[in-house]
Amino acid sequence: MAPSQLHIVVAERLSREAMESLQAAGRVTVLDSCDEGCLLTAVADCDALLVRTYSQVTRHVIEHAPNLKVIGRGGVGLDNIDTTAATEHGVTVVYTPAAATGAVAELTIGLMLSLLRDIPANDAAIRSGAYEQARTNAMANELSEMTLGIIGMGRIGQAVGRRCQVGFGMSVIYHDIIDPQPLDFQATFVEKDALYKQADVVSLHVPLTELTRWLIDKEALSQFKSGAMLINTSRGQVVDSLALANRLRNGALSGAALDVLDEEPPAANHPLLAAPHIIFTPHIGAKTPMSQTRMSAVAEDVIRVLQGLPPVSAAHIYR
Ligand code: NAD
Repeated sequence: MAPSQLHIVVAERLSREAMESLQAAGRVTVLDSCDEGCLLTAVADCDALLVRTYSQVTRHVIEHAPNLKVIGRGGVGLDNIDTTAATEHGVTVVYTPAAATGAVAELTIGLMLSLLRDIPANDAAIRSGAYEQARTNAMANELSEMTLGIIGMGRIGQAVGRRCQVGFGMSVIYHDIIDPQPLDFQATFVEKDALYKQADVVSLHVPLTELTRWLIDKEALSQFKSGAMLINTSRGQVVDSLALANRLRNGALSGAALDVLDEEPPAANHPLLAAPHIIFTPHIGAKTPMSQTRMSAVAEDVIRVLQGLPPVSAAHIYR
């Protein structure tokens, strides 16, 4: 098909360079909103659909797009795309699996250190005139004395594990449903229950799937070591927010740091907003210029598929 006849829908903006490549490959429609109603109208005659985190590419959307050949996800998680429906309809899904690995690993470690040394609360204490009180109460372990438990030892899990083991001297244990060995740093596989019991810091790096939705529920949290910390930079729905709020309120955990929530942005009455010892960031794991540039490479892969070439990064589906 001649480029001018190809219709490419961009639901969430990519870099200027990516937009220019797409414009050279076909007629591009950029959406103002990524809600389902808007997607349904836009995809009716489209050949390619590009999204990022917040567009929900449901079966309904895919079935409304009879010409759709390829969905490009600028980013890592595929939980916003019904990959089963895409496969059934012969639609290729491409993404940028390594775009944000280093950026998310660095944020994870920043959150870990912030929790450990209570940096946001100390900052607030100084501003409110409680300098001496904050200093008197401050006492924390060092990372080299602590065990990090990683759930999901894929790209980001390994980037966190490597930095924490080699850089900070932490002991690292992990759980995964596949064997990631050989690893280039020391880490020991354990069953999930053993990880909950042994880890001083539990860090989540799994994709959101039917197996991981609400993985860290009341039952899992009840097995955590007393005083453990939880870090979630994966997806909000991996953690039961109410159960976590209760564990923080009763002091069973010493803190949690979350880049992702089950509701983004959270409603004013979200249970975690009122919980103690918690640090939030607004889903900024991939917010570095390098990550954003790498994510925009999804445009090239979409164009390859439209040209009948094999994709560089076809979606990997966990079942
Ligand atoms: P990856 O595919 O390289 O690694 C995921 C690992 O989780 C794999 O080793 C996989 O086997 C394992 N896994 C899958 N299901 C599991 C289960 N039930 N129990 C234990 N392990 C399981 O992915 P990645 O690049 O490391 O990214 C991980 C996730 O991080 C993404 O899926 C995405 O949701 C999230 N992420 C968040 C941000 C952010 O801005 N906070 C940015 C990028 C990615």
